[in-house]
Order: sequence, then structure tokens, then C-alpha cells
Amino acid sequence: MPDNLTKADYDLVIIGAGINGAAIASEASKDKLRVLLLEQFDRPAQGTSSKSSKLIHGGLRYLEHFELGLVYECLSDRKRLLKKYPGLVKLKKFYIPVYQSTTRSSMLIRTGLSLYALLGGLIKSSRFKRLSRSQWDTLDGLKTSELKNVFHYFDAQTDDAKLTTRLLEEATTAGASIQYDSELINCHINETDVQICYQKDNASHKVSAGLVINAAGPWVNHIVQRCQPAFDPVEIDLVSGTHIEIPGKLNKGIFYLEAPQDQRAVFAMPWKGHILLGTTERIYEGDPGKVKPSDDEINYLLEVYLHYFPDAQISKKDILASWAGLRVLPKNKANPFKRSRETIFHKNNHENPRVISIYGGKLTSHYSTARKLLKLISQV
Ligand SMILES: Cc1cc2nc3c(=O)[nH]c(=O)nc-3n(C[C@H](O)[C@H](O)[C@H](O)COP(=O)(O)OP(=O)(O)OC[C@H]3O[C@@H](n4cnc5c(N)ncnc54)[C@H](O)[C@@H]3O)c2cc1C
Repeated sequence: MPDNLTKADYDLVIIGAGINGAAIASEASKDKLRVLLLEQFDRPAQGTSSKSSKLIHGGLRYLEHFELGLVYECLSDRKRLLKKYPGLVKLKKFYIPVYQSTTRSSMLIRTGLSLYALLGGLIKSSRFKRLSRSQWDTLDGLKTSELKNVFHYFDAQTDDAKLTTRLLEEATTAGASIQYDSELINCHINETDVQICYQKDNASHKVSAGLVINAAGPWVNHIVQRCQPAFDPVEIDLVSGTHIEIPGKLNKGIFYLEAPQDQRAVFAMPWKGHILLGTTERIYEGDPGKVKPSDDEINYLLEVYLHYFPDAQISKKDILASWAGLRVLPKNKANPFKRSRETIFHKNNHENPRVISIYGGKLTSHYSTARKLLKLISQV
């Protein structure tokens, strides 16, 4: 770490107590950096990091877009998390049914799973198999008419908010200060430090940092707008993803379904004694704090579920809970489902960066993201 970082009150001020801010706070504190994390809400994980699909996975579907590096990194992170947090990150059985109408052929899925197993290091948890016909009736009421094959593999599930909280506990133990109800108001960028103003208990507070890490998730460009002198943000789309929780039980594991409406991947997962269905993709232009599921998204998810589990007695009135989270994706013309999920680090300037903003990423890859960021910082 260069000398000039250490003259400020903190080496790093991190904005946001989501999974990325938490992982960076934890790793940076373990590396003996002096860290302050500011979170606008009164608890961690009130943004995207409590609204994900809660999967710790390599992202099988990213293989369709040849994102081999991302899948490899996520599978390595999955392996590490399964070992480090056995009570929080659990291996689950996943099932992919292939029907006559499924657009991805059995051959394509088998190839994808083989590559997935290879990238996962061919360990026991990367193995997959095809179920025999006699096993189809044990699949929690999955539709068997026109069913051609069912593939079975492993990935992992967690509680995203609990995992974030756990990382923040580790950060605190390693010496980080974490302040809730603390909203970043502005940053004044100087040659050797950043002067930060934040609001807490109806009063404004000032603190200085060698570097500001903007881990504000869907608010990332709100933070950029609060920096002086101004710099260009990465142009992004916020893409809302809805989940609904419905009564019922999936005893076998997680079903990886192809939505009949648009062939996107939708998961049906056991969750706290119920079933969690998700997710959708809809460009969102409003206030990130106010995103809500639309009627169309709720209907879409129910339709997918009833298409594959036709005997389920479920309708809209039975929905126990629904919520939406926001993905941060670089703006381009591609359909959101096909856009890269790689994390982007954006510096306020290249010669002497003082604010580094994090765009996108995965719950699964928080550790790799934190380590890559710390490597970048060490070169500042
Ligand atoms: C629908 C959906 C499903 C997903 N499913 C998965 C999945 O199954 N597996 C997976 O690996 N990934 C998944 N992801 C991706 C993953 O959830 C996100 O990449 C991750 O949660 C982003 O975390 P974050 O810390 O960057 O942002 P966030 O969790 O949004 O945290 C940002 C924090 O910054 C705070 N903040 C904002 N502005 C200020 C301010 N001015 N002052 C102080 N604090 C501020 C916010 O309050 C918030 O707490 C999913 C994403 C979505 C949207």
C-alpha cells in the first residue's frame, strides 16, 4: 500500500454493506488496511444481497455464452465457500428436465454438464448423471408427459443476507469499523486523499480516506454523481429480477426449468419450508430503493411453475411473499439474459485513482472480486 493512503483517517472507506462491500471490508481488514464501511440502511444486505436466487453456483447457463473464465472462477469460489461455511453454504441436488419442446437438446445439456464438471475439477460434487425413467415419478410431481430426459448435477444454495452478515462479522473481528444508518452524501477527491461527507443521526460527519470503494450495487452511479471533481460513470442498465415464495415442498432439490414463454432459465427451489421461484428480467429505470415485482413478472413465474408442476393447486392468492432485486449490467443492445455477468472495476482516473466503483458481479464470486480489487489497490 503506498504511503499516501495511510495519511488519511482510513485507508479505505467502502460504501455499501452488500456482499461485495462486506467481502472487501473483510479481506482488506485481514490485510491490515484501516477500513470504514458506510451503509445507508440500519442493517446489512438490504439491497440486492438479500434478493438474489441464493445460489452459490458456477452458472451453468453462462457456458452458452462461452464465459468459461467466469464459470471457472465461480466454481472455484463455490468450492471454497462449501469448505469455509458448511452450515451456510450447502450442496444441493439440481434437476434439468428435457421435454420434446425444450429448446436446449439433451446433447447440448450433456455437453454443458461435462464442461461444467471439467471446470469444477472433476471432483465428486461436479459429477452429473441422467436419471432412469423409473426415477421420474419421485420428482415432486414434475410433469412426465413428453419428458425425454432428466439430468441431475450438484450446485449450492445459501442464505444471501446471512452470508453477508457473516462476512461483516469477520471484517469487524479483523478491525473494520462498520456504520449503519450512514448515507454517503458527497466525496471530494484530492491529489492524495478523498474527503467524505456522510449523514448519520441527522448530522453530517466528515472523514478522509486514501481510497473510496463504491460498492453501492444498483446505487453505484448515484455515488459517482456525488463525487467532485466529476468523472464519467460506466453506462449501465438496472435489470429487475423478481422472486415469489409459494406454499409447497420440493423434497428432491432444485429444478432448473426452461420458461415455456421465452426459454429463459427459471429455478424452483426449496426455501425455508416453502418453494422459491425465480427469476425474471425487466429493465428498470426508477429509484433502486423502490423496485417491486410487477403483475406480469408474478404471472410469468406462476405460469412456469404450473407448466412443470401441473397438479400443484396454486394461484396468485396463495403467494406468500414476493420481492425484486436489481442486477447492474453494462448498457448494450443485447437481451439482458445474454449479457456478461463479469464484474467491472472502474477508476475515477487512471493515473491517480481515488474512487474505484464496482459494477455487477455475483454473490458467488464475492471473494474473487475482493481479492482482485485488493490487488488493483496494491498497484495504485
Ligand atoms: C434477481 C437476482 C438474482 C440473483 N441471483 C444470484 C445467485 O443466485 N447467485 C449469485 O451468485 N448471484 C446472484 N445475483 C447477483 C448478486 O445478488 C449480486 O451481484 C450481489 O448481491 C450484489 O451485491 P453488492 O454488494 O454489489 O450490492 P448490494 O447488495 O445492492 O449492496 C449495495 C449496498 O450499498 C448501499 N448504499 C447505496 N447507496 C448508499 C449510500 N449513499 N450510502 C451508504 N450506503 C449506500 C445499499 O443500501 C446496499 O446495502 C442475483 C442478482 C439478482 C438481481
